[in-house]
Amino acid sequence: LAGAISSVVKEFGPRQRITEEGIKPALRSVRRALLDADVNIDVADALIDGVRKRSLGEEVIKGVTAEQQFVKAMYDELVDMMGGDSEATPLMAVEMIGIKTNAPASTLAVGQPGDPVVVLLAGLQGAGKTTAAGKLALYLKEREVDYSVEVESDKPIMINDLPKRNRKVLLAAADVYRPAAITQLEILGKSVGVEVFSMGTDTDPVDIAQAALEKAKAEGFDTLIVDTAGRQVIDDNLMAELQRIQKTVKPDETLLVVDAMTGQEAASLTAAFDSAVGLTGAILTKMDGDSRGGAAVSVRGVSGKPIKFIGVGERTVDLEPFYPDRMASRILGMGDVLSIVEKASAALSTEDAARMTEKAKNAQFDFDDFLQQANAVKNMGSLGKMAKMMPGMNGMISDEQLVTAEKRLKKNEAMIQCMTTEERGNPDLFIRDKSSRERIQRLADESGYSTTEIRQFISEFQKMRTMMSRMTKSAGAMNPDSDEE
Ligand code: GDP
Ligand code: MG
Repeated sequence: LAGAISSVVKEFGPRQRITEEGIKPALRSVRRALLDADVNIDVADALIDGVRKRSLGEEVIKGVTAEQQFVKAMYDELVDMMGGDSEATPLMAVEMIGIKTNAPASTLAVGQPGDPVVVLLAGLQGAGKTTAAGKLALYLKEREVDYSVEVESDKPIMINDLPKRNRKVLLAAADVYRPAAITQLEILGKSVGVEVFSMGTDTDPVDIAQAALEKAKAEGFDTLIVDTAGRQVIDDNLMAELQRIQKTVKPDETLLVVDAMTGQEAASLTAAFDSAVGLTGAILTKMDGDSRGGAAVSVRGVSGKPIKFIGVGERTVDLEPFYPDRMASRILGMGDVLSIVEKASAALSTEDAARMTEKAKNAQFDFDDFLQQANAVKNMGSLGKMAKMMPGMNGMISDEQLVTAEKRLKKNEAMIQCMTTEERGNPDLFIRDKSSRERIQRLADESGYSTTEIRQFISEFQKMRTMMSRMTKSAGAMNPDSDEE
């Protein structure tokens, strides 16, 4: 999907503006790429429609090409389709143990204080349930928890706000149909240092789950993960058994473990399980394989259920929280270029950008504009991060150079802050005006920098101004279109 979309996008001319007619062929190709990647057809159509509306509705941003704008629209639609940006990913109940009692009610819809959080894993045979049980156990027990931070907050707590976990996890082996399943879970449990509860293959899985829950309560486990049996296909027995387990252990999370390689099939499966047993979300496994993205894109659109984790390998460490925005970048295969477009357009509004260009052209760029630009850069994150996000730039600029550049920017800002309003709007006061020498002395006194340093900045500023004027003028000559935008 990545390759297909990026080749469609390359068909945009560098300065082409987005028009209804202009994007039709691109949309048609993207739709085909989505369907080829096994995205559900309704989801693909909704995406295409959204991209069309977005790219036509959006103002043209100076300095952003039609191509970039189209990609951004595509990206935004994908993110929405997969559940919004990572900030919006709701905290999993499994993350909430220990804060159940103190955290605001709105964030907690789970169990009674003191009860362990119960996670029930469901899915077809071979989807990766047992592996996911081991992975989740490791994910939860891995680190320490600092509850003090989260309890204060009245916002829903997000996965990435909780870097530390130190959960006492019990794994329950409730797949009694395949004798090897119990051994498999026991081996996994041992490898991640988590206790496994089993009662052999002759016991009803419902009784196993019940006994596991009692043990968890009695022995102070805060999380119980129940591994269940799967079938080749959905059948009534499987669903009935899951429903009985659900009734008994009242899980806080019922997660469908589903294989990403099955493409849009994963989405319809999620919908089917949801209508039968009620899911809180899905774990999409085997994302490391050559899945073409259809499952990741379709699951939420078809079933309404969020993907909460992805499995990216066979090892127990190969589990990642699902971030729709990261997944969208990955699907588009354009790395973080997108986040630059996004941040750039947010930081510097279209109007400001146009005004800046006009000012630059006429060499009217002043110290206030400089500050505004500096702030825009800051909104985009540090210079270093910015530079590293640029494809091909990583390693081109040394960390040392970046630190120097950032320091210099701060210094220049400090100098500008000591200027009067008049001086900020009229940089020539520092060179042509008779009073320039006194002004520089005053700035030196107020900012604490030497007059040499201040002169140096002012001379650099003037050079920059001349250069900007030259550059924007010649760009205008090469690109006569740009004037009417
Ligand atoms: P279950 O029948 O649903 O319990 O599935 P298992 O947990 O036994 O997994 C079936 C197979 O898929 C095993 O060989 C696992 O190693 C493999 N598997 C599970 N998750 C992943 C994953 O995220 N990536 C890859 N490459 N393999 C996985
Ligand atoms: Mg299994």
